[in-house]
Amino acid sequence: MEMTDPQTLAAAVARGDRRALARAITLVESAREDHRPRAEALMATLPEGPCALRLGMSGTPGAGKSTLIEALGMRLAGRGSRVAVLAVDPSSQRSGGSILGDKTRMERLSREGGAFIRPSPAGGQLGGVARRTREAVRLCEAAGFDVVIVETVGVGQSETLVAEMTDVFALVLAPHGGDDLQGVKRGVMEAADLILVNKADRDPAAAAHTQGDYASALRLMRRRAMDPEGYPRVMTVSALTGAGLAEAWDAVERLWSWRRDEGHLQRLRAEQRLRWFEAEFMALALARLHRDGRLAGDLREAVAAGRLSPPEAARRALGGA
Ligand code: GDP
Repeated sequence: MEMTDPQTLAAAVARGDRRALARAITLVESAREDHRPRAEALMATLPEGPCALRLGMSGTPGAGKSTLIEALGMRLAGRGSRVAVLAVDPSSQRSGGSILGDKTRMERLSREGGAFIRPSPAGGQLGGVARRTREAVRLCEAAGFDVVIVETVGVGQSETLVAEMTDVFALVLAPHGGDDLQGVKRGVMEAADLILVNKADRDPAAAAHTQGDYASALRLMRRRAMDPEGYPRVMTVSALTGAGLAEAWDAVERLWSWRRDEGHLQRLRAEQRLRWFEAEFMALALARLHRDGRLAGDLREAVAAGRLSPPEAARRALGGA
């Protein structure tokens, strides 16, 4: 990677320079430890950008997330909004700079001048995604994007991680055939502000049925203080025909504006920053434990042999003893 000092890079990102933004994201995503100090200096000098609408979107593979994001992105671009999409795929690996199996995604949107699309491979490390994607979101915001969409495939924990770094979280699902709720976990349902039942063009009756099932399930959940009347909502859409997209976007914006105007957004982001701090603390403590030969060696050996209890060893490791 070309060496630009962090201050110059931060200033270029803040001017809206796309290549600088791409380089900055590459820097914060780098797994190389010697890149970390520069990445942190970059983040520290980054000016506070205008407040972007941060939208998280998750869903099962094939539900139509990319198609939907592209369709929504094209509408937003059409009205002059600048949209950044960070597509996090926990199953993909970077191979010689490109993302495997990701060549044809969101081609139309990527040709829009106001749009920025960035696939992020995670190489199976979900924790790593969360840490670095948060920084990438901040970088996009500082670069002046109005909307930052974080897309992730719904595998395991990734949905809740994305919900924890965005202002509004939407779950994208295809209509189900039977009576089940597609195994959507309770935690994911609780995190969802909007459930978008996509592909309504294929079988409108099945889509309406699915909408009804999820609406009933959501009604059983506790209403959150940061929700206006009527949320969380379930809507049917078609990314292919565009049906329901204007209403879906309107529902996202109304919720976001309400949360901002009522002061919930500031509180939500403050809580998210605290959780980020805690996650970072745990990651750093673990990294130190593994790096420090004396700690790792002696304590691990004593724990493995049963001479030292794991809680006691953890306390000593943190205390540096
Ligand atoms: P992802 O894995 O969730 O990102 O799903 P994709 O966006 O790649 O879509 C999976 C497949 O569903 C593709 O073949 C799309 O063309 C198709 N698809 C997406 N949205 C719709 C829709 O609204 N209606 C129909 N009929 N097909 C759709």
